[in-house]
Amino acid sequence: MVKTKKETVFPVQGPKGMHDILPADQPWWDRVNKIAFDLADYYNFLRIETPIIERAEIYEAGVGETSDIVEKQMFGLVKTGNDRYVLRPEATAAIARAYIEHGLQQLGQPLKLFWAGPLFRHEQPQAGRLRQFHQLDFEIISNDDDPVYDAQTALVGFRILEELKIKNVCVIINTIGCKNCRPAFRRELKEYFGEKKDELCADCVRRLAENPLRILDCKKEKEQELKQSAPIIIDHLCAPCHDHFKTVLEYLDELALPYELDHSLVRGLDYYTKTVFEFMSEGVSFALGGGGRYDYLIELLGGKQTPAVGCAMGVERIIEAMKLQGITISPRTKQRVFLAHIGDLAKRKSLSLVEQLREAHIGVYEALGKDSLKAQLRMADKLGAPLALIFGQKEAFEESVIVRNLKTGAQETIPLKKIGEVVKRKLK
Ligand code: AMP
Repeated sequence: MVKTKKETVFPVQGPKGMHDILPADQPWWDRVNKIAFDLADYYNFLRIETPIIERAEIYEAGVGETSDIVEKQMFGLVKTGNDRYVLRPEATAAIARAYIEHGLQQLGQPLKLFWAGPLFRHEQPQAGRLRQFHQLDFEIISNDDDPVYDAQTALVGFRILEELKIKNVCVIINTIGCKNCRPAFRRELKEYFGEKKDELCADCVRRLAENPLRILDCKKEKEQELKQSAPIIIDHLCAPCHDHFKTVLEYLDELALPYELDHSLVRGLDYYTKTVFEFMSEGVSFALGGGGRYDYLIELLGGKQTPAVGCAMGVERIIEAMKLQGITISPRTKQRVFLAHIGDLAKRKSLSLVEQLREAHIGVYEALGKDSLKAQLRMADKLGAPLALIFGQKEAFEESVIVRNLKTGAQETIPLKKIGEVVKRKLK
C-alpha cells in the first residue's frame, strides 16, 4: 500500500481490467503486430491513426444509443466547454469521422485502411474482456458494396490467425439485411419475443423495445434456448441482400476459407448492415476478431452515403489463444556478444567500443555498471552470449581486445580496428 501526502492509502495496482505489457510478453506482441503490419502492407491497406479520445457524439450517432458500447461502456468522459470527449471504445467510427473530415475519398476507391491501437470499454473484466484492449482494424471503403470487399476483409483477419498458427480457425458468418428488409424481420422478432417477455432478462426486455435483434446476442441460457425457434433473417432478406450474401459465401469458397453460418450472429454495434462475421478457434471460448459491413455509418456521421466493410482483430485475445494452444514464440535469433571491461580506462573506452560495434551491426550486451570481471562473465553466461570481448587496462592502451569463446574457453587478442570483421566471422 502507498500513502499520499494527505495520508490516503491506495493499493499499488494498475487500473482494473487493464494490463501492463511486461518485457516477457513483448515478443508475443511483436509477433502479432509484425504479421498484421506485413499483411496490411501486402494487401495494400494504408495506415491511419486517430486520437485516443473522440467526441462522444461520434459514437452516439455512429455506434448507436442502444448499443452496449454507448449505453454502458463509454469510459472517461471529459467535458471542456460544450465539448464531450470519451476514450475511444472502437475504431471504425473514428476512422469514418477522419475519412469525412479529410476528404479521404480523394485517395481513390476502394480505399483500404489499416488501424492499430488501444481501445477502452467500461466492461466487467473477465477472461477475454478487458477495459483496455488492442485491436488491428482493416477497413475497405468504396462507392459500391461489392461483396468481394466483404471477403477481402475476412481474408486478412483469417490470414493473421493462420500465419500465427492458431488452430482450426473458422469464420462464423451471417447477414443482418439492410434498411429495406430488416424492419419486417425486426417486427417478427419483436412479436416472437414479445410473447415470451416474461421469460426474458431485464436487459432483453429493454432490447425488445429498442432493438430486438440484440436479444439474439444475449448469452443468457434462457435467451439461448428461446432463440432456437426465433424467426431467422435469411427468410426475410430482400433480393439484393440475398444475392449479396450468396456472393460473399461464393468468394469465401473460392478463397477456401472455412466458414459456418450462424443465424443468431448479429454483433453488438448498431451500424452493421448485411454481412457480419466473427473468427472462432479450437478450444477458445471467445471470438478472436469480428467485423461486418457498415453501409450507412459514413452517412450517419454527416458524409456522403458510402458503403464500407471492416474487420477488427483483438490482440490480447489472439495472444491468449496462442498461449492456450501451446504455440511458442522463438527467442531473439540475432546473437549478441558480451563486452566485459576491467578498470576505469577500459570502462570509459567501452562506451565508444559499443558504438563501434553498433556501427558494424553487431549486437552487444554490457554491464558497464559492474566492476567485477567475475560478475560480468556470470552475466554473459546467463544471457547465453557465445563470445565475450574482454577489455582491460592493457588492451585499452594498446587498442586491442581479447575475444573469448565462452563455450570452449579459447581466446585470442585482436586489434580494435579489426573487431567487426573478426566477431562476424566467429559468430557465423
Ligand atoms: P468489436 O469491436 O466489439 O467488434 O470486437 C472486435 C474484436 O475485438 C473482438 O472479436 C475481440 O477480439 C476484441 N475485443 C472486443 N472487446 C474486447 C474486450 N473488452 N477485451 C478484449 N478484447 C476485446
